[in-house]
Amino acid sequence: NADDKLSLANMEEDVVKSYPICMRNLHEGLRKDHHLKHWGRLQYGLFIKAAGLSLEEALLFWRSEFTKKMDLDKFEKQYAYNVRHSYGKEGKRADYTPYSCMKIITTNQPGPGDFHGCPFKHSDNDILKRRLQNYKIPNDSIKEILDLAKQQHYQIACSRYFEVTHKLPNGVTMINHPNQYFDESKKFLSG
Ligand code: SF4
Repeated sequence: NADDKLSLANMEEDVVKSYPICMRNLHEGLRKDHHLKHWGRLQYGLFIKAAGLSLEEALLFWRSEFTKKMDLDKFEKQYAYNVRHSYGKEGKRADYTPYSCMKIITTNQPGPGDFHGCPFKHSDNDILKRRLQNYKIPNDSIKEILDLAKQQHYQIACSRYFEVTHKLPNGVTMINHPNQYFDESKKFLSG
């Protein structure tokens, strides 16, 4: 179903309804800073590619944000190549596989100014709590999700977040990949 794919036209709606919290964090960070650092560009770039964004739309997307703060010329020289590269259009034509939850949780720990990583693992409790409140998660579910994250059940916390935001019963989902999250959400919402 073509409607289940990510496109620029439906992106802002999908960010709210169908993005896992890690990718929403990257998206909002990019909109705020008009920039993402290396690991953020990789984590988010490979996600939007696998979610169905075309190369042309991906270039348009990154260019429109980055050029709010830098010259078009600099963007074309330093960043456009990497976007094309990640779509296999330049260089080795390597296949870049989008990162799984396990990879995001266990590698490349984010530092200050980074937006990549898994917020269930990498955000401190207060920041995660405020984020969930901003996303209109009911208080009892927030408590449950924070407890799961504290017990290091990051993917179960994410699955609970999915279930709450899709009005599904407790325990029917198991999230292990951000693109699985996105695909299941789109399928559920269009079905
Ligand atoms: Fe993203 Fe996976 Fe963490 Fe969920 S558990 S926020 S999909 S990395």
